[in-house]
Amino acid sequence: MQTLDKTQTKFAQLTARLSEVIDIESASSVLYWDQATYMPAKGASARGRQLGTLKQISHEKFTDPKIGELLEDLRSYEQSLPYDSTAASLIRIARRDYDRAVKVPAAFMAKLCRHQADCYEAWAVAKADNNFAAVASELETTLELSRQYADFFPGCEHIADPLIDRSDYGMKVSILRPLFAQLRQALVPIVEAITSYPPADDSCLQQEFPAAQQLEFTHTVVERMGYDFQRGRQDLTLHPFMTSMSIDDVRITTRVYEDRLDQALFSSIHEAGHALYELGNSPELEGTMLAGGISSGVHESQSRLWENLVGRSRGFWECFYPQLQGVFLRQLGNITTDRFYRAINKVARSLVRTDADEVTYNLHVAIRFDLELAMLEGKLAIRDLPEAWRERYRSDLGIVPPTDSEGVMQDVHWYCGTIGGMFQGYTLGNLMSAQFYETAVKAHPEIPVEIEQGNFDILHKWLKQNIYQDGRKYTAAEMVDRVTGSPLSIDPFIRYIRHKYGEFYVI
Ligand code: ZN
Repeated sequence: MQTLDKTQTKFAQLTARLSEVIDIESASSVLYWDQATYMPAKGASARGRQLGTLKQISHEKFTDPKIGELLEDLRSYEQSLPYDSTAASLIRIARRDYDRAVKVPAAFMAKLCRHQADCYEAWAVAKADNNFAAVASELETTLELSRQYADFFPGCEHIADPLIDRSDYGMKVSILRPLFAQLRQALVPIVEAITSYPPADDSCLQQEFPAAQQLEFTHTVVERMGYDFQRGRQDLTLHPFMTSMSIDDVRITTRVYEDRLDQALFSSIHEAGHALYELGNSPELEGTMLAGGISSGVHESQSRLWENLVGRSRGFWECFYPQLQGVFLRQLGNITTDRFYRAINKVARSLVRTDADEVTYNLHVAIRFDLELAMLEGKLAIRDLPEAWRERYRSDLGIVPPTDSEGVMQDVHWYCGTIGGMFQGYTLGNLMSAQFYETAVKAHPEIPVEIEQGNFDILHKWLKQNIYQDGRKYTAAEMVDRVTGSPLSIDPFIRYIRHKYGEFYVI
């Protein structure tokens, strides 16, 4: 009896300490959200300092040896509980995060952070001037620091594994390399077949669409998806993102181009998909380390599921297109649903990942993933990176970026993060989105009919029950297996692409 009491006390101490860490991180999220939405430009340097201070406090609190002791003392308690119980999962996930956090010295993380800020500044200038040489030496330091980060995890199979592990725990090069190679092999001929046809006409999306009306329409759409404006809000930003301050405060952001209809619309659906995930966490996870999403891959699977499998489906627009036409009568009054559907699903060999369609998108990711590995393995020097980039775009997508700004400098990731671990989540998310959706429709064949009626209740409930409510309890591999009964595979994604685009093209 006494030991049980003692255990309960220790568990309570652990959760109290962890919830302080979570509270500090949530406060940082508010500061970050403010920085990216409303903060005046000149507030940036003080805000950077404030965020740095909070990061240091939360890191110190989390890596306090007392937490390590409590985690150790609670080991047998954890083992006495079912694996999927909230208490056991909390101890397990806290230990995993703790073990990683204490392996990397705080001084190294601070150095990496400072370097990332410098490299980002250099990138912004180099990109504007189309001058890769101006950022090359900073990027060499990033590569060196990325290698040093991996050194804190001796015994890993591949140097990129610890970097991948940070955002996609449990994934590693020996799983991802063959998976992505297989995907590339399946996609290249599909892209070749589709692009041998005349491109879809998407001029209807490139007209003048006033911002206020665009925002009103996206508001309606995300609300119908189930995004709760009592527990969130949408604001404007430069690079759309989702962030949460608690389970009852999960915010989304978007950007509007008045000469393009698709940006605000699909980025809003995308971010609302991320938000539904965290809003759907079980309330008992509030303020614990189990709140949130499993990994960047699983998180992306939810945003892409809503953005592409739902938001770019024909059924979705059977319902919403007449409403959209009502808002933009002058621009879309003479455009049929079919023409609009084809415009939002135009497939093209393009230079920019963020603008890529769902068929070619993963080819962009595979290029970055392979180049990251080559750099970490010492097979590709930074000075040869722009040419290696051009070469891969030539061979995989059949186009060559005319400038490095549109090539190797287009994504911010390497220039404000690490080399390694930055891109795999996007493709993992695309693959999982198809695998989850296929399973949902198998369980509830009425889902597509509901979507045609603008009703997402069954799909939303299924996602909540099977994925959202568990927060971070499981690994991505466990989640895919539990939900779909199979390991992660490229097959559902390829089936989805073949079925959808097979309507218009012989592929
Ligand atoms: Zn996303």
